[in-house]
Amino acid sequence: MRNKVIFGNWKMNGTNAAVKEFLKAVDQSANNSEVIAGLGLPFTALSTGITNAKNVKIAAQNVHFEKNGAFTGEISIEMLQEIGVEYVIIGHSERREMFNETDATVNAKAKAILQANMIPLVCCGETLATKEAGKTIEWVNGQIKAAYEGITATDAIKTIIAYEPIWAIGTGKTATSQDAEEVCKAIRQNLATIYNQQTADQITIQYGGSVKPDNIKELMSMPNIDGALVGGASLLANDYLALVNYN
Ligand code: PGA
Repeated sequence: MRNKVIFGNWKMNGTNAAVKEFLKAVDQSANNSEVIAGLGLPFTALSTGITNAKNVKIAAQNVHFEKNGAFTGEISIEMLQEIGVEYVIIGHSERREMFNETDATVNAKAKAILQANMIPLVCCGETLATKEAGKTIEWVNGQIKAAYEGITATDAIKTIIAYEPIWAIGTGKTATSQDAEEVCKAIRQNLATIYNQQTADQITIQYGGSVKPDNIKELMSMPNIDGALVGGASLLANDYLALVNYN
């Protein structure tokens, strides 16, 4: 049985005051025994998140893969670990598109995060142009192959993948549950090729892109969709609770 994992991604939103108030409203009820509920927060709010959350797992939205040194403006894994962060979102399309995140840096980050016994949440997804060219699966499989390069099966099963078609992020356009399932299934087949079926069957794959309380149930009913990564709708306490308690 794979874990069901539903994480919010607050992106560049969330003062410490807002995070505290939000967790006061949701943490106690985010106790669905079938779902690991989480929240990706900006660096400056991570400590507040960890202090105020009992049920909600707190994730960073990025990390640098180097241990320390002359990397002005970056945050290391040790720094996240020191404050109790366990999950790190890597390779989000916004970071790939706007901040030069590449398949190679995603891979370096995944390895460094796993080495520290933390959990990487590896994002992948295609642009509208790639989708329209009929190359979605080829593209996403390439991203996954690169992200998992040199990662053992034992480590791979600890990771989470988020399939997020870029054209569905923040646009209100959700992939149909069948389309999302088709790609998540292809990702799992790809993992079976890279590792083996048993390993592939243990890796949690989320869908992301305009997930809302009214479409979560249908998405979660798909055999290869094990969770969701939610941007916009995760900012509202009521919606967040409806998402993590969808069942
Ligand atoms: P969205 O964002 O739910 O607002 O579409 C998803 C994401 O970027 O993780």
